[in-house]
Amino acid sequence: MTRKFAAPQLVVATHNRGKLEEISALLAPFAVSVVSAGDLGLPEPVETETTFVGNARIKAHAAASATGLPALSDDSGITVDALGGAPGVYTADWAETPTGRDFVMAMTRTWSELEALNAPSPRLAQFRCTLVLAWPDGHDEVFEGCVEGEVVWPMRGDMGHGYDPIFVPKGHLVTFGEMDRWEKNQMSHRADAFNKLVAGCFE
Ligand code: IMP
Repeated sequence: MTRKFAAPQLVVATHNRGKLEEISALLAPFAVSVVSAGDLGLPEPVETETTFVGNARIKAHAAASATGLPALSDDSGITVDALGGAPGVYTADWAETPTGRDFVMAMTRTWSELEALNAPSPRLAQFRCTLVLAWPDGHDEVFEGCVEGEVVWPMRGDMGHGYDPIFVPKGHLVTFGEMDRWEKNQMSHRADAFNKLVAGCFE
C-alpha cells in the first residue's frame, strides 16, 4: 500500500530549470503548490550513488528533511546500449565544465564514442527516470519510467533540454528537441514515471 500525498505544498528537489518546468507542467492538474529546492536556496546534495534510485533518494530525503515538507526528486539520464548503458547515472557529469554544463559537448562525446566503436544503426538508447517522493519522517515511494528510442546525429531542435536534440523516441521521426513540451510529455520517461506516481500517491 503506497502512502498518499496529502500536503498542500510539495518541494521539487531539483536545481535544474528544465526538469522543474516539466514536473510543474505534469503537476498542474493537481491542487498542490510547488516550490523548488533551487528557489529555496537549498544546497545541492552530492550524488554519491551508482544507481538512479540511489541518487534520487539522496535528493528527495535531503530536501524533505531541510524543509519539513514532502519532496519529489527526479534522477534521470540516457542509457545507450552500444556504450554498455553509459552515460547512465553520469549523464549530467558528461556535460560538466569548469564554467557550467555544456550539453553540446556531452552529446558530441556520446556520438563520438558510438562512431569510435562503429556501432551499428539504429543506435538504441533509453531515457530513464526515477522519481522519489520522500516525507520528512523518512518514508519514501519510488517510481521508474523509461522511453525507448535511438541516438541520432546531427543534433536537431532547440525546444527541450539536456540530450533532447539527439534522441528520437521509437515510432517517431523527430527528436525530443523538436517536440513541444506537451508532445514530449505524452511519451517521456518522466511522464511514464509520473503517471505511476499519480496512480500510487495522488489518486
Ligand atoms: P541528474 O538526474 O540531475 O543527475 O541529471 C540527469 C541528466 O540527464 C540531466 O542533466 C540531463 O542532461 C539528462 N536528462 C534527463 N532527462 C532528460 C530529458 O528529458 N531530456 C534530455 N536530457 C535529459
